[in-house]
Amino acid sequence: MNDEEDIASIESAREMDAADPLSDLRDRFFVPDGELYMDGNSLGPLSTDAEAALDHVVDEWRTLGIHGWTDADPDWFTYGERLGARLAPLLGANPDEVVVANSTTVNIHTLVGTFYDPERGEKLVVDDLDFPTDHYAIRAQLRQRGVDPDEALRVVESRDGRTIETEDVLAAIDDDVGMVFLPSVLYRSGQLFDIETITEAAHDAGALAGFDLAHSVGVIPHELSAVGVDFAVWCTYKYLNAGPGAIAGLYVNERHFGATPSLAGWWGNDKETQFDMALTYDPAHSAGAFQIGTIPILAAAPLDGTLDIVEDAGGVAALREKSLALTDYLIELVDERLPECEVGTPRDPAARGGHVAVEHPEAYRISLALKARGVVVDFRPPNVVRIAPAPAYVGFEDVHRAVDHLREVLDGTEYEQFDRRGAGVT
Ligand SMILES: *Cc1c(COP(=O)(O)O)cnc(C)c1O
Repeated sequence: MNDEEDIASIESAREMDAADPLSDLRDRFFVPDGELYMDGNSLGPLSTDAEAALDHVVDEWRTLGIHGWTDADPDWFTYGERLGARLAPLLGANPDEVVVANSTTVNIHTLVGTFYDPERGEKLVVDDLDFPTDHYAIRAQLRQRGVDPDEALRVVESRDGRTIETEDVLAAIDDDVGMVFLPSVLYRSGQLFDIETITEAAHDAGALAGFDLAHSVGVIPHELSAVGVDFAVWCTYKYLNAGPGAIAGLYVNERHFGATPSLAGWWGNDKETQFDMALTYDPAHSAGAFQIGTIPILAAAPLDGTLDIVEDAGGVAALREKSLALTDYLIELVDERLPECEVGTPRDPAARGGHVAVEHPEAYRISLALKARGVVVDFRPPNVVRIAPAPAYVGFEDVHRAVDHLREVLDGTEYEQFDRRGAGVT
């Protein structure tokens, strides 16, 4: 791939697709006709597997009614724990350290609310490129504890507006810190954090380490238990393709089993005693304790289907290998063919997530022009076109074609037909 003409030719993309052992997986996804779908880090597409799993629980609801809680196959009563156990290999966790429950934002509320302890250290380390909801939830939890978020939050600042230096995170961690809560992958630039180094530094300072894995679960393997991460949250509608508003996941290291969740509810009760209906809460001795109310089975079933795809791919490591090949290829093409754009994503594979941030001052209007051509990407302010070639259903030729479109949009200044951001209803 060193020959410039070679990189730019569609034949070389087709050769890479032909050699790709995962190329058949795409037949299991519904991608709207004619679209190049590069937005699976916002919402993954439907698959036949997800649809069948959803149909299955709808059928059971029809035929079993309330008996489904015990008689469905698999039963609905322990559905959250069972899906947690299926997800555990993706996280490098023990089966009982993972459960699906709630939404990501709610899981941040309950886990930060449970594990933040000013006695351990009042300061909570975050960064200034985080996804906003994480900060909203953390600030709310600090206020609940009578702590002023402006005092307690120690916000690591980006030097370049794209990435966070590990050394700056480490410099922020001292004896005043009780918790570090960071993303695995930054949602805009796609930087992958060094979870192991950060967790060790937090522990050395007597602090806990929590992570938001929204942009890595299903596309990057994790080793949470080996690393000793204290807790983590993620959504399943991005790279896991479980559908809009699908149930989220959470991880709690077994050393914290028995902690009383800040947002307690009966679905987190020990399953053995849940239906004793005692008025005092008896938390499950597992991550299951952090469930709150009744599991939304219809929002959980598609995940049961899509996890088959991950298993058939040979696990997340195989998906990661293809993902890095796709993002390498995309970065090469941007360098070669789009000199007016910059790549905002780290080039080092060890620091790169599953998507690529292509920067241009007109990123907003360019993303609208791409969408009008059926290239589904998204815009992130101020200047990023986010392109996510998700490895389960995007191929090298797709990446090549997306760059062709981008080249044509820039050549014809086609984006000028679109209103500037803020000029009207968007
Ligand atoms: C997508 C995403 C979320 C979404 O949270 P919801 O509660 O599912 O809306 C949260 N955090 C990060 C980092 C995300 O990328």
